[in-house]
Amino acid sequence: MILMGTERLVVDAMLGSLARKLRIFGFDAVYFREGSDSELLRMALSERRVLLTSDRALSERARARGAPCLLIEGSSDRERLEALWSSARASGVELSPGPSRCAVCGTVLEPLKRADVRGLVPERVAASHRVYFRCPGCDKLYWKGGHWTRLRKLSSIVVRR
Ligand SMILES: [Zn+2]
Repeated sequence: MILMGTERLVVDAMLGSLARKLRIFGFDAVYFREGSDSELLRMALSERRVLLTSDRALSERARARGAPCLLIEGSSDRERLEALWSSARASGVELSPGPSRCAVCGTVLEPLKRADVRGLVPERVAASHRVYFRCPGCDKLYWKGGHWTRLRKLSSIVVRR
């Protein structure tokens, strides 16, 4: 099974914090919070999303139904991210993230200039950061630095492995 350039994922309810990180990395990651396993599998198949789950029984069910699925083990998000990339390699799934997305709602972020965020972010942030993004979906602001940098750094460590 080879899926070229997959950025579309659906993440099961146990992996919410992983879903938020994957959006920042540039994946179109739907977080499937409510609904049955059957509904989850239907969504993965109809929307052509790769299913990420830490539930072995569900991953076996997915495979039996022909839904691409990656089993994600590990207890921290870092371990889970590493598991994601190695599981993708082992399954012939090519992960290809696009532009960063909002961690909250998954919309692709728009770049903003420093001048545009004046008054919208704390003084100390405005003084020390130059690159900003806004989510057109929910209006949340992001800036490169701090949490963001740690996340991107984590993703590049994981991707290079
Ligand atoms: Zn948003």
